[in-house]
Amino acid sequence: MKKISRRDFNSTLTKGVGGVTLMAAAPMACAMGTNQNKKKLGIALVGLGSYSTYQLAPALLETEYCYLAGIVTGTSEKEKVWASKYGIPKENIYNYQNFDEIVKNDAIDVVYVVLPNSMHADISIRAAKAGKHVICEKPMAMNVEECDAIIQACEENNVKLGIGYRLHSEPYTQEVKRLVKEKAFGSINYISADAGYRSMSDPDQWRLNKKLSGGGALMNMGVYAIQSVIYGTGENPISVAAQEYSTRPSYFKDTDETITAQFEFESGAVGNIMTSHNVRANRLFASCERGWFELDPASTYIPLAGRTSQGELNFPQESQQKLQMDDFAKHIQLNTINRVPGEMGKRDMMIVEAIYESISKGGQKVKLNFTPNYGFAG
Ligand code: NAD
Repeated sequence: MKKISRRDFNSTLTKGVGGVTLMAAAPMACAMGTNQNKKKLGIALVGLGSYSTYQLAPALLETEYCYLAGIVTGTSEKEKVWASKYGIPKENIYNYQNFDEIVKNDAIDVVYVVLPNSMHADISIRAAKAGKHVICEKPMAMNVEECDAIIQACEENNVKLGIGYRLHSEPYTQEVKRLVKEKAFGSINYISADAGYRSMSDPDQWRLNKKLSGGGALMNMGVYAIQSVIYGTGENPISVAAQEYSTRPSYFKDTDETITAQFEFESGAVGNIMTSHNVRANRLFASCERGWFELDPASTYIPLAGRTSQGELNFPQESQQKLQMDDFAKHIQLNTINRVPGEMGKRDMMIVEAIYESISKGGQKVKLNFTPNYGFAG
């Protein structure tokens, strides 16, 4: 009998109709074998900076459908530390030179790209070519062209692609989406979203270097505000006009510090965002026909908090990264919805580019032309 590797088995299950039925009916442990880790997808984190170290790796100790199977790092000193802390075998440790050999490693199912933005496209495409599913951190890439290249590589290699938008797996955000979908307070008239922090550390950090980041506050925190106005109205915007302000030009030499932007929506709703590397802000507020809702904070890790014109929202606080990675693993294993498809990352990058275009034209309104649900989950 032909021996079926775990990868073949997974891919048969996720591609074939019969496989999906089997998978949906069988408990994970039974379907994937008895070894504790074998029932879980193996994730390799690429880039062991602060997000991987303090959020993703700890969350992968809690996940039920995936686990930390491997690492990719350019810093050899980190190899030993991570190997002993997380029990990662030598054969699952890669650097950027030998990364492509990951194609031969059946223990790695998903490559999670957690690098400076300028490196997202290259590693995501190499991962897809190696037959690995991809999670790519936000912002998806440096520009729309790179987003297209990532999406194409994942399609051509028949692997799944998700963006690191953890909030779509988080209960307060999911409640906002439900309120909007069910028109709990009628139609939305106005939405505002702010996302920023005050950057004080090393002025030479990659986030303030345009070659590595693609832009400043807008690329980093602005995508959260863009996301908020979209899931807070349930619509893609039809136009944007934007302004840029700089109050600490000696620190922000290369990238945008503070940006405001106004959106119009087909329904008649209007929106406003503010994003900054110099202003602490983290809020979503929507005024509706028959009330209002608000998240404050709206995009920090935990705890989020929120209220509506009918009272406080109260949901359990769990690691958002745990929920996000489990959702993506379930999408692969059980063919559940992809909450954060590549098109969502591309759509946001199209809006980012439109905002920069508006700023370059002195705040002129730039039209956006998305099909109604472009970039929405599903
Ligand atoms: P970081 O600076 O802490 O880590 C970056 C990592 O990339 C380091 O391990 C560094 O060694 C490595 N690296 C490789 N080449 C590099 C280079 N040329 N310059 C600098 N570093 C280089 O960054 P981070 O906070 O971990 O962010 C990484 C990615 O994750 C970014 O895309 C960021 O937007 C995203 N992120 C997402 C969230 C979220 O909530 N979804 C939160 C934080 C960061």
